Amino acid sequence: MKFSEITGQLKVKHQLAEMVNHARIPHAQLFLGPEGNGALPLAIAFVQYLLCENKQENDSCGQCPSCNKVSKLIHPDVHFTFPVVPKTSGKVPLSDDYMAEFRKAFLENPFLNEYDFLKIIQAENRQGNITALEARNIIKRLNLKTFESEFKITIIWKPEALGKEGNILLKLLEEPTENTVLILVGENQEEILPTILSRTQILKIPSIEDDEVMQELEKKGCENKETAQRIAFLSQGNLRVALQLLHHEEAPLDVELSKWLSATLNNHAVELIHFVDQKSGSGRENIKQYLAYVLHFFRECTMMMYCLQLSPRFTESEQTLAGRIQRFLSEEKLNKLIPIIEKAHYAIERNCNPKLVLLDLSIQMEKILRGKPVYAEMDI
Ligand SMILES: [Zn+2]
Repeated sequence: MKFSEITGQLKVKHQLAEMVNHARIPHAQLFLGPEGNGALPLAIAFVQYLLCENKQENDSCGQCPSCNKVSKLIHPDVHFTFPVVPKTSGKVPLSDDYMAEFRKAFLENPFLNEYDFLKIIQAENRQGNITALEARNIIKRLNLKTFESEFKITIIWKPEALGKEGNILLKLLEEPTENTVLILVGENQEEILPTILSRTQILKIPSIEDDEVMQELEKKGCENKETAQRIAFLSQGNLRVALQLLHHEEAPLDVELSKWLSATLNNHAVELIHFVDQKSGSGRENIKQYLAYVLHFFRECTMMMYCLQLSPRFTESEQTLAGRIQRFLSEEKLNKLIPIIEKAHYAIERNCNPKLVLLDLSIQMEKILRGKPVYAEMDI
C-alpha cells in the first residue's frame, strides 16, 4: 500500500516520509488516534516506503518485489501481532494462527476495527487478547536474522490488548536489537500500559477531514453529493463508519427519521409498527447506525438552539426536517431525549430485543416531544 492510496492525512504522511528520507527511524513508535483514521494502512505504507527498492519522492514505487510483498502482507521481515482468541479451547493462541484471516480481512477493508476482525474469526462475542506467549514470540522473531531487507519489523495492532503481558516487551523497547522497528497502532491511550507509552515515540493521527471523507465516498461510487455530505458529517472523520453507511444506505437516513417522527408524533400506530418491524429486522449494526444518526440529528438541533443559527453540519433536507419539527423542540426536551436515545443505542449493542427497544423509544420520544410526563403513573 502506497501513501497515495490512503485517504487524507497529508501531514502525517509527510512526517513519516521525512523519517525515512533522513534515516531517522524511531525503533518504537505508537501510531495513536481514533478509529477509522487509517493508522494501520499508514503503518503499512510507512514500512513499504522504508523497504522499497526504488523509492519515489515521498512514496514507495508500489511495484518492486519488496513493495509487492509488503502490500500483500507477506514480506518475511514484516510481522504482525493482533488480538486473537484460542483456536481450540485450552490452547494459548498466537497471532500467526490467524495470519491468513488477518491478511484477507485487511486487504478487503484496511479501515477495519478489532470488532470486524473478531467477527471474521467468529469470536465477536469474546475478548481478543495478545498473550504472554505472543509477546515472547515478538522478541524471538526480532532476534532472528533478516531474510531480505535491512530491517526487522513488527506491527502490533491494538496494543490495548496486551495488558500486563506488555511488560515482557519492556527490555526490547529499551534496548532494541539492531535494525529493529516496532510500530504499535492503538486508539485509546488510557488503555495502553504506561510503561509501554513512556518507551515509545507517539505519533498522533487525527480523524479524517470531512471533505476528504466525501472525496473517498465519491471515489467509491457515491454519486449524490448530498448523501456524501450527510455521511461525512455523520461519520465524524471515521472512514470505517463512512464506508459502512454508504454500503447500508438504502433509503436516506433523514427520510427514515422523518417517517418515524411523523408516525410517532401523529400516533399512527400501524405506520409505527411497520417502521419498527422493518428496522428491527435490518440487523443490529444497521439499527446502531440509524440510532447514531438520530443522535447526531438531535445533537445538531441542540446546537442550533444554543447558537440560534442553522447547523453547518445539516444538509438541505435535514434543515427542512429540523424546521418542520422545531415547534416540538426545546432545550429541556432535547436534554431528556438525547439520553434515552443513547440508552437505546447501548441496549442494542448489548443484544437486547430490537423490536422492544425501538417501540419503547418511540413511546418515550412521543411523550417527551409532546411535553407529556414520561412513564406517567397509572391510575388503578
Ligand atoms: Zn518499491
